Amino acid sequence: MPVDAPITDRSWLHQRLTSDDPAILDDLWQRADACRRAEVGDAIHLRGLIEISNHCTRHCAYCGLHVANRAIQRYCMDDDEIMASVAQAVDFGYGTVVLQAGEDPRLTKDRISALVERIKTTTPLAVTLSLGERHEEELRAWRSAGADRYLLRFETSNPDLFERIHPRPPGAPDRLTLLRSLRALGYEVGSGVMIGIPGQRWDDLIDDLLTFRDLDLDMIGVGPWLSHPETAIGADPAAWMAPADQQVPNTEDLVYRVIALTRLLCPAANIPATSALATINTVNGREQGLQRGANILMPNLTPITYRALYQIYPGKACIDETGTQCNACMRGRIGRIGRHVGSGRGDAPNRSRRGA
Ligand code: SAH
Repeated sequence: MPVDAPITDRSWLHQRLTSDDPAILDDLWQRADACRRAEVGDAIHLRGLIEISNHCTRHCAYCGLHVANRAIQRYCMDDDEIMASVAQAVDFGYGTVVLQAGEDPRLTKDRISALVERIKTTTPLAVTLSLGERHEEELRAWRSAGADRYLLRFETSNPDLFERIHPRPPGAPDRLTLLRSLRALGYEVGSGVMIGIPGQRWDDLIDDLLTFRDLDLDMIGVGPWLSHPETAIGADPAAWMAPADQQVPNTEDLVYRVIALTRLLCPAANIPATSALATINTVNGREQGLQRGANILMPNLTPITYRALYQIYPGKACIDETGTQCNACMRGRIGRIGRHVGSGRGDAPNRSRRGA
């Protein structure tokens, strides 16, 4: 492989994903960190995550919130509870709130529109929605109400694997189509994948990386697949696995490689060190992600009474911390690696460069 091979070269990517050569890995970490510094700087932007409902109508084979899981108690926060968490985001100096939920019909077009308008007229915050696959008219209404960004992971670029892990009602658009609609509506668009979900092959992961670039994403979140026993895959992972020499593992090491390659492929995107990464390394997973290409953290602002119930996977990091504790912890981690908390909304440079 020539040293100057283009970063979109599949065998170059494959080697970075699989090689055990310390020189190749050191070079990858250094390039990713230098690219991050040059493109998005040393600021780490904080996004307050509010998990507003754990109801879901879908049957995703990986996610603990799927509709048939009777083992969890369901909740949906009311508007005043959500606004109390939003007020905390302002108090803590965050630039953004992220409202996330299962695909919950209680979160109607009008309710979310009114809520977004309330946040936008009473606070300086950017609003990110992550409410799953919704009708285009809902996405349009929420954008008109002032929503700035939308997060919707495409989960895997392999259409067959996606169908298996993510059964869809007939006629529902696929996530790649929805991502294009979100872009056309003027949202800052975020997506991502799980790493090491049973059935994911190396070629799929390389396609995922190249898809991030093709979609020209503004935000890209990646994290390890974590087995949840109350899901179809978690109940019998072996039955879903690709042949051993092709199956991507859900290891911490691989998450860093994917973060680093994502930074090189999408230099001006915002890339979080995710909670799933922090879950597999509670000691310093976030810090290592931030040192290998990431520039965003998402402290949790979900009220403590609901937090443990938003169980997309078990053992989630920070499950019993209050918003105040989470804020202090994140700031400490940022200071200890010599970086600083970003001011303002932390929009993705990628979007402004596109001329949006
Ligand atoms: N209903 C929304 C939000 C889902 S939770 C949606 O579908 O977009 C946000 C993300 O958590 C998902 O996109 C998925 O990538 C991730 N996730 C779900 N279950 C997971 C698991 N078992 N392990 C790791 N990540 C998981």
